[in-house]
Amino acid sequence: MSSPNTDPFVHLIDHPLVQHKLTLMRKKEASTTSFRTLLNEISMLMAYEVTRDMAMQDIEIETPLEKMTAKVIDGKKLVLVSILRAGTGILDGMLSVVPGARVGHIGLYRDPDTLKAVEYYFKMPKDMQERDVVVVDPMLATGNSAVAAIERVKATHPKSIKFVCLLTCPQGIATLREAHPDVQIYTAAIDRELNSHSYILPGLGDAGDRIFGTQ
Ligand code: URA
Repeated sequence: MSSPNTDPFVHLIDHPLVQHKLTLMRKKEASTTSFRTLLNEISMLMAYEVTRDMAMQDIEIETPLEKMTAKVIDGKKLVLVSILRAGTGILDGMLSVVPGARVGHIGLYRDPDTLKAVEYYFKMPKDMQERDVVVVDPMLATGNSAVAAIERVKATHPKSIKFVCLLTCPQGIATLREAHPDVQIYTAAIDRELNSHSYILPGLGDAGDRIFGTQ
């Protein structure tokens, strides 16, 4: 079902726990509650991969036995940027692993005629130049929303930008890679193709509707 991936900028997270949970989410009979819970769990596991190269610093601490130098991350330097509304599903899971992360939101909707992304909301933390950004959206389909969102984030000059989705397809990857070749993509699967309504096949349907029970 998933295509082979040879692009070093595309990280396919094929951990068995992620793949198992994704399969349960894809099932059409999965309830809203279980879909949301599974997305939350997968997002925590994906946060583990996407934060693998986060900068650490040494601090002095005292164990019950003696003093030592130990490592910590500065979670505040990380900004999780959620593309509304479906990005919220990934954001929640990631925040439970990196609770100190700052959060930005971008509101985009897909114009039904042009399929282009139209922005209606944009709010980022301050001092973006000091921060590493992870943009999240469960579905990288046409890639238009991701391209537009990353363009806006780039204008704030963060130190780095990564993109995390649950599912994508060759077209979504190609569009994003062409517009933003410097942005690494993290995904749990690369599905076959888009249908004529720009849904990913075999996919999991409308992620926002399934997260929020609005189908
Ligand atoms: N957005 C979704 O929610 N699902 C798709 O398959 C494509 C875009």
